[in-house]
Amino acid sequence: MPALNDQVQYVRGVGPGLAKMLAEKGILTAEDLLYHFPFRYEDRQHPVSLDELKPGELASVIAEVRNSSLVRTRRTPLFELTLGQGRHVLKCVWFNSPYLNGKFLAGQTVAVYGRVEPSRSTSNFKMIQPQFEILPDSTADAETQMLEVGRITPVYESLGGSRLASRWQRKVIFNLLESMRGAVPDCLPQSMLQRLDLPDRETALREVHFPPEGTPPAQLQSSSTPAHRRLIFEEFFFLELGLELKRRRMKERKGIAFAANDKVREAIREVLPFHPTAAQKRALGEIVADMRAPSPMRRLLQGDVGSGKTIVAFQAMLVAMENGYQAALMAPTEILATQHFLAARKLLERSSRKPRIVLLTGSLDEDRKRTNRGLINRGDANLIIGTHALIEEKVEFDRLGLVVVDEQHRFGVMQRFKLMKKPGPDGRSGPEPDVLVMTATPIPRTLALSLYGDLDLSTLDELPPGRVPIVTRRMPGERAEEVWDFVRKQVAKGRQAYIVYPVIEGSKDDQPELDFSHDEGQPDAAASSTNRHRTTPKVKTTELFPASAHEAAPSAKSGLKSAVEMHEKLRKGPLAGLRVGLLHGRLDADEKEVIMRRFQRGEIDVLVSTTVIEVGVDVANASVMVVEHAERFGLAQLHQLRGRVGRGAAKSYCILMTGERISDLGEERLNAMVSTQDGFVLAETDLRQRGPGEFFGTRQAGLPELRVADLLRDRQLLELAKHEAARFVEGPEPAVTEAERASVRTQLKQSWQRKYGLVEAG
Ligand code: ADP
Ligand code: MG
Repeated sequence: MPALNDQVQYVRGVGPGLAKMLAEKGILTAEDLLYHFPFRYEDRQHPVSLDELKPGELASVIAEVRNSSLVRTRRTPLFELTLGQGRHVLKCVWFNSPYLNGKFLAGQTVAVYGRVEPSRSTSNFKMIQPQFEILPDSTADAETQMLEVGRITPVYESLGGSRLASRWQRKVIFNLLESMRGAVPDCLPQSMLQRLDLPDRETALREVHFPPEGTPPAQLQSSSTPAHRRLIFEEFFFLELGLELKRRRMKERKGIAFAANDKVREAIREVLPFHPTAAQKRALGEIVADMRAPSPMRRLLQGDVGSGKTIVAFQAMLVAMENGYQAALMAPTEILATQHFLAARKLLERSSRKPRIVLLTGSLDEDRKRTNRGLINRGDANLIIGTHALIEEKVEFDRLGLVVVDEQHRFGVMQRFKLMKKPGPDGRSGPEPDVLVMTATPIPRTLALSLYGDLDLSTLDELPPGRVPIVTRRMPGERAEEVWDFVRKQVAKGRQAYIVYPVIEGSKDDQPELDFSHDEGQPDAAASSTNRHRTTPKVKTTELFPASAHEAAPSAKSGLKSAVEMHEKLRKGPLAGLRVGLLHGRLDADEKEVIMRRFQRGEIDVLVSTTVIEVGVDVANASVMVVEHAERFGLAQLHQLRGRVGRGAAKSYCILMTGERISDLGEERLNAMVSTQDGFVLAETDLRQRGPGEFFGTRQAGLPELRVADLLRDRQLLELAKHEAARFVEGPEPAVTEAERASVRTQLKQSWQRKYGLVEAG
């Protein structure tokens, strides 16, 4: 009898050849195949009749082939298929698909699925490039008949061309489930399932693939049948269980118990430039409590742009330094690292201890790097600020007590853990340093907890006093002159401005804007996301749906204005006479530092830049943010960019200039920016637009790839799973047998090894 962890090639109907193709989709075992769910269902027992169709809706229709033909237009061959039901007809057309010629025979029954296109006559709707399936006729074998007609039929994304299409999956999965009848072991305890009113695993798997008659279509559509809920819960449960155990294990590890006495308090008081907000006080209190505890701190500090995370971090670092330890602050860009370095120097000028602050970034010259590494290694550097250069192998700390990671969403999880695990100079690992990670990505609390479930969470939910709302406006590119006029006027009032461009120079491979370049947040990634609402696109949707025209990917060289070019133009033309600076990722560290410092001191009026200033940059006197080609930027990016102004008491402006044709999603982003400044609201929109996978940058954020659950859609089940996982770890419930505990453990191990391997690195 087959078992769930059998290799997929031994599943009846598969074999070595197809197994190879399946492996490419990550399907290695029988279980993997069973957890590849249908992405929609067709009720072929109660099909819609053609006169019920409404233009604009997605519909699945069963009708009879009347005729078909290949029309050779001048540009592309067009294949037309006419389906009929009584006196109603439905025309389907496919472009560029001559292979369809001869496929359909008059009298055949066909199921099609697609968007109903409006037409003048209601009895003659159209579908463009619908999905289709020719249904078996009475000569087909009984099994095919039974699986394809007169029932709720599952439709799968192809696992590789037409060979592994829906029809194949139905058969193989059906037979697999039949052969395992009564023998699929459950991985969740009986008593838990009963309490939560969820079906057992075998029933759930059967019904997710072959829903019983009468299952409400809306439930199927929203993946909320009891079968779906059970399997989604299961996935979340093992994720949360693993995270919970990790958290508990962390509490047993040996960390540093810092003292937070009057001496430490005095060291902070002496440098603190302003009264902290209530939120900052609360967060610092939580952080210090962790630092005093003997286990290592693992805490996430979350707060919208401008909420004042930096000063909280500096205070925590002072605690570490006062205790005789080194503190390290890691930032995702050199510019931000440099700014933190300058800010730390300024802040600690007032300190009577005169701690030594060292900057370590990738583009420092080798000599300085070597010198700085020496200072760090000998313990002569107390506060170390840098980029990922900090986690390069060659850096060895003397007594690392606290690591702060700023803008954590820009780093990969691996990097986070690597720094934490660095051994001491003697090669032995002593007590582990505390770790505080900070992010401005406002993540709804439940999601934050599940994403960073191994971390404790503090939130700054309050902005420092005296902030004035930022005025946000859209401007078509043609009205640039007015924008430049406005910039001049603001400069005349003593203010400063940023002007941001999507690229450095006009060249094609011109995107190295973050020191950790990855797709997330790059303008192109935002504009080309077609996989909305799907956590992990395991199969390209384009295999099923032709690319939609409304969100075409921009061409690589599309005449975008660039920072370098516009810096020249503006300086000589519309902004002549002003002090216009240029900042981008390709400058070397010294140049960046000089420019940043001059802008900070007010020696530069207008800073022409790229998204390199997106995160963290803090110049309170800057009151204007102009973004050109704003339609190209992602929502999180725009929000971050806008967050560079409105940091002081002056009235600030964000001007979103648009260049070209704007996609629907682009429109939605711009409108959202104009209508709200609330990071949480924007994050929800962003999350909805891009889907959790891209929003969090799955791999980079350490977000596990979920195979059936969807973080956005299934949030409630996530919360339930978290609760249940904590309860399960808490103590043995009498109703749970030892055998059941054992199978929970086995499943946990399996899913963490295979699916969440990355997270487990900690
Ligand atoms: P972010 O959370 O985006 O990193 P920052 O730490 O850069 O925000 O702080 C934004 C600005 O607010 C900085 O100029 C900082 O000096 C200022 N700030 C922070 N906390 C306070 C406070 N309690 N009172 C007044 N200004 C503050
Ligand atoms: Mg910051």
